Amino acid sequence: MSEAYDLVVIGGGSGGVRAARMAASYGARTAIIEEFRVGGTCVIRGCVPKKLYVYASRFNELFDIASSFGWQVDASFDWPTLVAAKEKEISRLEHAYTTNLENPGVEVIKDRAVVTGPNGVHLVRANRELQARHILVATGGQPIVPDIPGAELAITSNEVFDLPRLPHSILIAGGGYIAVEFATIFAGLGVNTSIVYRGDCVMRGFDDDLRRGLEAGLQERGIRLIYQTTIKSLVQQGDDIAATFSDGVTAPFGAVMFAVGRRPNVEGLGLETADVELTAGGAIAVDEYSRSSCPSIYAVGDVTGRAALTPVAIREGWYFAETVFNNNPIAVDHSLIPTAVFSEPELGAIGLTEAEAATHGDIDVYIARFRPMMNSLSTRTERMILKLITEADGGKVLGCHILGPGAGEMIQLVAIPMSMGASKADFDRAIAVHPTAAEELVTFKGPTYVYRDGAKV
Ligand code: FAD
Repeated sequence: MSEAYDLVVIGGGSGGVRAARMAASYGARTAIIEEFRVGGTCVIRGCVPKKLYVYASRFNELFDIASSFGWQVDASFDWPTLVAAKEKEISRLEHAYTTNLENPGVEVIKDRAVVTGPNGVHLVRANRELQARHILVATGGQPIVPDIPGAELAITSNEVFDLPRLPHSILIAGGGYIAVEFATIFAGLGVNTSIVYRGDCVMRGFDDDLRRGLEAGLQERGIRLIYQTTIKSLVQQGDDIAATFSDGVTAPFGAVMFAVGRRPNVEGLGLETADVELTAGGAIAVDEYSRSSCPSIYAVGDVTGRAALTPVAIREGWYFAETVFNNNPIAVDHSLIPTAVFSEPELGAIGLTEAEAATHGDIDVYIARFRPMMNSLSTRTERMILKLITEADGGKVLGCHILGPGAGEMIQLVAIPMSMGASKADFDRAIAVHPTAAEELVTFKGPTYVYRDGAKV
């Protein structure tokens, strides 16, 4: 006998949890199925533990400049202490997420789910069948592991948080946010760190000035950048792993990590039994209301390949529940998504890059570069960058890009006026907070340069 639900959610991560809670609060009989740990990637092996490790790694720089403020610090770092403290915190959050699901009446099932048809779900471990009026697939994604000899010797973001010991050196393959964030985490914790990337500058898709500024910041922290190169093979060599690169060079590393992208979790999910169509990139194809090609099956979050960020998955899960269970069809606007890279230096961005904006008509570009005040008593030379891109002559703000301390926090606040369609004149009306770095955003006088008729002037 199969049990009947209004909604069965597959995946207890950011999107699935929010959708399940909201649907249950609207009176839907809801079950959520999670095969690993409730909270999903973000809570268990993504944003949350990552940010905790970022905090851990940043003490190093503070100790470094402390002497310029008169402090003498004798510091040492213990990796197992950090891993244990992280585990305690994510277990607390996992418990809180479970309680928050159970309070409005969601049934939490720890199992692996497989779709068996437009309204059917099979629980693999319990060997049970569920019937659902609606199925929400929120299975997230997983790290891509390149198909090279010795790939099994490397770790991914799934394993990195629980390494038994801190390696003496690490080679990180990739040039995206996970690669640069973990590079600065490891470098900050005293590990000799290298990035190998097939492109010619990290953080493809971000504004070029900030990419170059970030690159300089990584190098200033001793991170070696090996560009236009890939790993061809890995071999165990004593306690080390020998990596052979595409240029033929071989070198040993204490650990090797792949951060070369993530792919949607659709394998073995039974989606073909319900004729759920996939995109060319292997994600679940959905419409603006997150509905798949099968009318009873919806999908949210990373498995849909739209924007792989926790707040986006949460918003999609929320709007799905509004649409289906509160008779309030509402679509997520993916056009203006603020984002942060918690590297050192930190990066925050929203809207168009200069290269993108320049193709959209006449624009003005405002750039401030300066040493963060925190470093002014030390010998550190790193520059902070704040960049504002607007329509010509005080028009709408099209993009904002920040590199330096607090960039993530600042970009969240800039997202508010930008979501309201603010102009440069609106920014200018705000009175500055002094002394801050963010005050530059409201005190720009003339543009640094402009684009007119497609040409930089
Ligand atoms: P997930 O959170 O991945 O949840 C999917 C869940 O489904 C998982 O728990 C999985 O176990 C479960 N599952 C899969 N298949 C099945 C099945 N068949 N049966 C049962 N359960 C199943 N985003 C940010 O916004 N900010 C950040 O700073 C940030 N940092 C990140 C750092 C790292 C290292 C990583 C990997 C990601 C980071 N992200 C960050 C991205 C963020 O974690 C994801 O965008 C977000 O978790 C997506 O939520 P989701 O609900 O789509 O999927």
